[in-house]
Amino acid sequence: MSCLFCKIVEGEIPSSPVYLDDVCYAFADIHPQAPTHILLISRRHVASLAETDAEDAGLLGRLLAAAAKIARDKGLVHGYRVVINTGADGGQTVGHLHLHILGGRPLAWPPG
Ligand code: 5GP
Ligand code: ZN
Repeated sequence: MSCLFCKIVEGEIPSSPVYLDDVCYAFADIHPQAPTHILLISRRHVASLAETDAEDAGLLGRLLAAAAKIARDKGLVHGYRVVINTGADGGQTVGHLHLHILGGRPLAWPPG
């Protein structure tokens, strides 16, 4: 098992979990880009959003619902952003499906 985020889910690489359930695992990003920067991942290895289809609707729905719960729990009452970098042009650097939850400051648009 060489996937970095699979190793984090298994506890082989330490992380600071902020939320977990039977399908999701969330932890602080090691290089935060905002006062709150959480990575929310699927426990099951899925390489990227591009690898998903309608059969993954349950998983994807659970991830989005968990993102909203985490944002509420973190008190992001002024708003936040959920990002799924996908593939090379999307800026994905870790090949395991993950959502970035960013908040705690105004975020510029459009992104770079
Ligand atoms: P991507 O660029 O693939 O969308 O996001 C990968 C994210 O994983 C980056 O924001 C990066 O800071 C974070 N990251 C990479 N390695 C580690 C690690 O070992 N621990 C944690 N907590 N975050 C990591
Ligand atoms: Zn993985």
